[in-house]
Amino acid sequence: ASDVYKRQDSSVVDDSLKLPYEDIKSLTKAELTQLIGALGEKKFRAEQVYDWIHRKLITDYEDMKNVPKLLKEKLADISPLTVVTQVDKQVSAIDGTAKYLFKLADGNLIESVLMRYRFGNSVCISSQAGCRMGCRFCASTLNGLSRSLLPSEMLDQIYRIQADTGERVSHVVIMGTGEPFDNYENVRRFITLLTDENGINIGARNLTISTCGIVPRIRQFADEQLQVNLAISLHAPNDELRKTLMPVANKYSIEELMDACRYYVDKTSRRITYEYSLVKGVNDGKEQALELIHLIKGMNCHVNLIPVNPIKERDFKQTEGPQISSFKNLLEKNGIACTIRREMGRDIDGACGQLRKSHLDEDNAE
Ligand code: SAH
Repeated sequence: ASDVYKRQDSSVVDDSLKLPYEDIKSLTKAELTQLIGALGEKKFRAEQVYDWIHRKLITDYEDMKNVPKLLKEKLADISPLTVVTQVDKQVSAIDGTAKYLFKLADGNLIESVLMRYRFGNSVCISSQAGCRMGCRFCASTLNGLSRSLLPSEMLDQIYRIQADTGERVSHVVIMGTGEPFDNYENVRRFITLLTDENGINIGARNLTISTCGIVPRIRQFADEQLQVNLAISLHAPNDELRKTLMPVANKYSIEELMDACRYYVDKTSRRITYEYSLVKGVNDGKEQALELIHLIKGMNCHVNLIPVNPIKERDFKQTEGPQISSFKNLLEKNGIACTIRREMGRDIDGACGQLRKSHLDEDNAE
């Protein structure tokens, strides 16, 4: 009978038909195969369904042309197909950078960015709707955390952008709104699905995860022994200064953070990136540069200097060009690899989380 697999009525759900995770799009191929087997269907149907979802990037079960209608109905009954809906898009006339604003099924808004590089198209995704880390210079955290995203909701940001542009996405950075290690389990699963050769198949080495420095999760992630690039939002070379910029510094000291980073390098042999947003008169002096050198010298790492993107809610100012250069030169003279983040899409809603924030403000004003 067709009501056997209805999730809503748990009394008739056969245990083998229970979803092992939140929604069908968040299932691994093995889990989907098991589910479809439990529905009495042949294994090749699972291959087809997985392919439609994770390669052909359909947005509705009905679009699965070679799948029987009854199976499509059963799947739709068990779990709606998770998709994010584009509500706004801004494209930079300067460099083609595109900011997307997506709506989730529950109405939450999230932001993703497409950046076009010589080496390929890179998408910066959000891992949460909002953020509770409270970094002082960041727009994403101003309204707090609404909720964490599902693996499917992280994947679909990439799927929708690839479908929208018709161009392959080759790189992914988890550097949009949210703290990925505050949503560990879903992010871990997202990585499994993203790197699956039966799906969109983006190599772990083409993925970068950026964290404000949740030490136990960095260690846990190191133990997974993936080839994922790790970026650490450092922004200050000592605890005292770091605490004024990032509340997470009250919980974990820089010493503990550095230990965890060394552990990550040991386990994965990947080079760590330290992100350092330069704030005029706050962390951009010669003294801080020397402290930073002392802190990371000899590590397999690289420093990415980011002129802070001013947000109107705070009066942080960008370090000026000559000062950025002298900071960089000092690091390089001491053997530390260093780049200045090229600002992309200057002409579209600047800093991280500002497109989303401007929409939230509009909604509140209405
Ligand atoms: N929560 C993660 C990832 C999201 S933020 C993290 O903290 O790493 C991505 C990067 O942008 C972080 O290094 C963050 O500190 C930085 N960032 C946020 N707001 C910024 C701003 N206004 N100007 C410059 N960098 C900013």
